[in-house]
Amino acid sequence: MSMNEDYDVIVVGAGFGGPVAAHKCASAGLRTLMLERSVTPGDKVVSGLAIPFYAFLYAPEFIRDGNPPLERPIRQVVNNFIRDGEIYAKDTSLWIPPPLVLTYTAYCVPLCVWLADRAVEAGTELRTRTTAVDLVMEDGKVAGVVTDKGDTIRAKVVIDAAGTQDGLALKAGLRKKLPTDTLELYMLWDYEMAREDVEREFGNKVEFFCAMPDERIVAPLGFGSTFYIFVYRDSIHPGLGQFIVTEDKVENVARHLEDYFERFTTTVSRWRDDIAPKVTLRAKMFDVCPIYAGLDRNVREMPIHGDGMMIIGDAAAMESAAFGDGVPNAWFSAAIAGDVAVEAVKAGDTSAGFLQRYDERVKAHNLIGASLSDTRRYDMRWALPGNDEREMRRRAHELFGRGVWRWRHITGQVVREAMQAMSRDPGGALKWLKMFNRFNRNCETGFSDTLSKYE
Ligand SMILES: Cc1cc2nc3c(=O)[nH]c(=O)nc-3n(C[C@H](O)[C@H](O)[C@H](O)COP(=O)(O)OP(=O)(O)OC[C@H]3O[C@@H](n4cnc5c(N)ncnc54)[C@H](O)[C@@H]3O)c2cc1C
Repeated sequence: MSMNEDYDVIVVGAGFGGPVAAHKCASAGLRTLMLERSVTPGDKVVSGLAIPFYAFLYAPEFIRDGNPPLERPIRQVVNNFIRDGEIYAKDTSLWIPPPLVLTYTAYCVPLCVWLADRAVEAGTELRTRTTAVDLVMEDGKVAGVVTDKGDTIRAKVVIDAAGTQDGLALKAGLRKKLPTDTLELYMLWDYEMAREDVEREFGNKVEFFCAMPDERIVAPLGFGSTFYIFVYRDSIHPGLGQFIVTEDKVENVARHLEDYFERFTTTVSRWRDDIAPKVTLRAKMFDVCPIYAGLDRNVREMPIHGDGMMIIGDAAAMESAAFGDGVPNAWFSAAIAGDVAVEAVKAGDTSAGFLQRYDERVKAHNLIGASLSDTRRYDMRWALPGNDEREMRRRAHELFGRGVWRWRHITGQVVREAMQAMSRDPGGALKWLKMFNRFNRNCETGFSDTLSKYE
């Protein structure tokens, strides 16, 4: 049976970005509906990830002032260079002193539930187990969605926050499928590890592993891409990525990842001797990241808005090209889309012409554009042709070593954004310090705001 309902805004997807947009809209008094296809918000996102400090600095106030469920503050990146299964060199030059952090690790389900809870508290109606399967189109304008339950739900604006698997922007004729050479597939292994062992082996460090292709564990991009071990309170995640297209060939990605990981765990002594005896495999996951989408001019030029619709986060291919972190841009773009939706509904104009300001503000954002066009990770592959270890180490230093702090890489964008934030709120720096202190304490004690249960 079909039902007609009216909302100001429908947000499709309750992953990382959707709840931020919904929170903005509902807080401004807009009738806001958020649809999520899975049982629990965050269910369909990767199991765990690391969210860099700049995401929190420039996140909406409710995130900065809250107690989100975070796992561990990370203050150092260790790059291990492997030859014949042994670490022959390390680059530990990327670090930051406490109470600052480089990144917080977090599990996706609790964090997305926490975000969705805040959106609901602000007045959003959330329907889980509900998939938006089609758009309602009226005179070429998006006017709502059709759900898998057969409901037609109308709204003045649809914010598409459906992530990489999004089909709505294609249906609206705004975007095309992403080219395969912009996609990286990631396999993650979730291991339980006693908290004391995580402390002893890793503490507040994450480890990356780099090796030449002959080693067949991880190559400097092209073949095996990055290999990291992210650490949580009482678990660790090795994550191994593989670009689908390598040297113009489509690789059998799943097989490579399994083979590389098998070889890594059996030959690399850091894993075999130090870690393997202390861990138990709990789960294995496989997912896709649109890491190089922003480097592709055609993708960059695809619209992120249309008549009655804005597209945020991964659905708009906003994952960062260098670090593969997509949460910061999902939060930033969702907040901008939320603000623009509020302005559009209040002005009674949700045409593409009005929503153009979403596009303009995304382009003017200090961090979004720069993160999409950073070629450092892509350029790692230039160490391959000469089989050049020194070149690989130099490039790794630029990517996950002290090179990160270069003005043109991160520092310039972070400082420019900070200056703008401080001109709006001169007391902002002190608030940031308090936020880091609170988040760090919460990680220590395992505290977060109470989370809703979904069954
Ligand atoms: C393996 C892997 C590792 C990653 N590691 C990191 C990391 O360390 N740091 C980092 O910052 N980022 C990381 N990312 C990227 C990050 O997960 C994404 O950039 C981020 O989740 C994007 O947020 P989003 O809101 O755009 O989409 P998502 O968080 O993916 O949310 C989309 C939501 O929409 C729902 N949905 C989809 N279609 C529909 C529909 N039709 N109707 C209703 N609901 C729908 C989905 O179920 C999902 O909940 C990683 C990604 C992967 C795959």
